Amino acid sequence: MCIIAATVQCSTGTGRVATDRMMLIEQLSLMVKRHLGLDTFTDDLQYSTKWAIYESPLGGRGLVATEDIKTGEVLFVDHPLIYGPRSRTKAQAGCTVCRKIDSDSFFKCSRCSLLLCSVQCQNSDVHFGDCSIISCWPNKVPIEEVDDTLLSRALTSIRAVLLNEEQRNLLTSLQAHVLPQHGSEVRNLKKYFDIPIQVEQFMSFVSCILDANAYQMGTPYGKKEMSFRGLYPVSALMNHNCVPNTRYTFNADSQMTVKAVKPILAGSEIFTCYSGMLWGTPARRLHLYTTKHFLCTCDRCADPTERGTLLAALKCFSPECLGSLLPLHPLKTNTAWRCLDCGLKVPNNNICAIQSALGSLVGSLDFENVLALENYILNRITKFVPRTNQIVVDLQCRLIWEIGEAEGFRWNGKNLFIILYS
Ligand SMILES: [Zn+2]
Ligand SMILES: [Zn+2]
Ligand SMILES: [Zn+2]
Ligand SMILES: [Zn+2]
Repeated sequence: MCIIAATVQCSTGTGRVATDRMMLIEQLSLMVKRHLGLDTFTDDLQYSTKWAIYESPLGGRGLVATEDIKTGEVLFVDHPLIYGPRSRTKAQAGCTVCRKIDSDSFFKCSRCSLLLCSVQCQNSDVHFGDCSIISCWPNKVPIEEVDDTLLSRALTSIRAVLLNEEQRNLLTSLQAHVLPQHGSEVRNLKKYFDIPIQVEQFMSFVSCILDANAYQMGTPYGKKEMSFRGLYPVSALMNHNCVPNTRYTFNADSQMTVKAVKPILAGSEIFTCYSGMLWGTPARRLHLYTTKHFLCTCDRCADPTERGTLLAALKCFSPECLGSLLPLHPLKTNTAWRCLDCGLKVPNNNICAIQSALGSLVGSLDFENVLALENYILNRITKFVPRTNQIVVDLQCRLIWEIGEAEGFRWNGKNLFIILYS
């Protein structure tokens, strides 16, 4: 991710700035090597590093291939410096240790007020660490009155307090979004606890770093778990492209494996995608703007058809036409849309109204009722949007996720829907 440390931004004189930047990149490279365990000889290593940290032409730092990399090659296996519940307000409550959300025996720890599901989770090393930090802060209200949801939202930042100096250095060398909308979860804690000012400032800063760099962590197939995020420092160094040349997966130990999905030539930048790969351009650009504060201008964003996928397409408003509407100038946020077949032009505010109505429709769906969901896709949503539209694609993916390996269902390759065969 684009990172320019404050010391570099404040330096004067281009020669001096260049030297400082080189030094910072060298220091960071050493810290990253140690983090990945590449500084000691080991037989276990499953990959050889064919990349380096460099100053990206996109601004800040990035990863660049130092040798040609083949499709499928592992670039690195990263592990989180810190991880924990996501900070978003709609996060589902669950055990702060094992992520379980469907227990009948949830209780709040009597020392720290964090939500737990069992004595086993309460006695775990993870909870011992969390509890040792929180229970040290004098509470302003009786501990049982502390809102465990607010506490859970701040927990990932709280966990950074236990990092050692080297881990802290690596963490704070990453880019931070120091803006008023970031860090509210830490500020919310002040009504419950007297937190030492340096600790509060550090946690607020960590929260800004998390918002800029954290990855949503994977959930094993078929498991319903509280949504967690992890700070993977090497992965955080990859810049964004809407057609990335890597993909990542998580194993049961929360390690993130990053692999090449296409050949990457020596000297080329290594990219990941910070947004939904299967979202259309308007949704992707809005998400990148609100969460990462930039407007992407990559080749895919500039192409109205998104390489022929038509992910953002809407059905033409003209009743006689079967064509699709697409943005005329996708890099302009208020662009008019035009039908590919009949040329009908539609102003941007009409398109926004349709998109917001579709968003509410999808928000009201019951994803537990799989057959009703399939029926919904077949009979209702495709009246308003072409089958290429991201909503249809997203619902298909959710169906696969829900019943992909369920007894009695199989994939119908013809129309891409899953059907009951018995
Ligand atoms: Zn648990
Ligand atoms: Zn506790
Ligand atoms: Zn893009
Ligand atoms: Zn038309």
